[in-house]
Amino acid sequence: MSNKIIAGNWKMNPVTLKDVKATFTEIKRSVGSVRGVSVLICPPFVYLPELKRLSLGGKVEIGAQDAHFVDQGAQTGGVSAYMIRDLGIKTVIIGHSERRAGGDTDEIVNKKILTALTAGLRVILCIGEAVRDDKCHYLNTLQEQLEKDLIGFPIKLADRLIIAYEPVWAIGKNATRVETPDGFLHNKIFIRKVLAGIVGRKKALSVPVLYGGSANATNAGDFLSVGQADGLLVGRDSLNPKNFAEIIKIASKS
Ligand code: PEP
Repeated sequence: MSNKIIAGNWKMNPVTLKDVKATFTEIKRSVGSVRGVSVLICPPFVYLPELKRLSLGGKVEIGAQDAHFVDQGAQTGGVSAYMIRDLGIKTVIIGHSERRAGGDTDEIVNKKILTALTAGLRVILCIGEAVRDDKCHYLNTLQEQLEKDLIGFPIKLADRLIIAYEPVWAIGKNATRVETPDGFLHNKIFIRKVLAGIVGRKKALSVPVLYGGSANATNAGDFLSVGQADGLLVGRDSLNPKNFAEIIKIASKS
């Protein structure tokens, strides 16, 4: 059985290096000798070198929250996938709904994915509908995102792809409600079906599908067992070492 993936997306938090170090050190300590879980923390870019250094000798991997689609050059404020890779970082989140809301179209997401893969990174591709409807029209959104975001995806690199299903309405403190584990499972099966058309059935079955959207210590167990999630992408609760440690503990037992 492969490890569950528990990834923390710190977004634009914390705002001091002191808090970053304290939060990370506490998470690293609590992960300790936990087995059966792959833990990843994705901090803001500016903290990547320091956290990469602090992560040495521990079980928490460091990832990035985004990467530019251009290798290098005149891209003010941009961060290249090659810079990320050069730090020894192996994973990058691409297509998060907050970046899509900021202008990342499926075309841009696609280019970012292809550049990140060429740079040698593993990609967590976030997809998710903004609105849930009873007639399941939202599945068209998921299909369209996957098909457009993965145009030209090299099938042989399928082992470097992770999907995070994050319904936008379930993300953050303004979430209207949370997805149900059954609902997630339904969507996971659909995602794998669409992926089969892109990378082939066999490889699609091995692409981990995570749940994200107000995941916490109370609902983590159900998403991982009933929902059969291959892991969780956690926002707010990944900044709370106690809550995050609890989620990791639950994942190690499921
Ligand atoms: C996210 O934005 O990736 C996320 C899952 O956030 P939260 O857990 O805070 O809803």
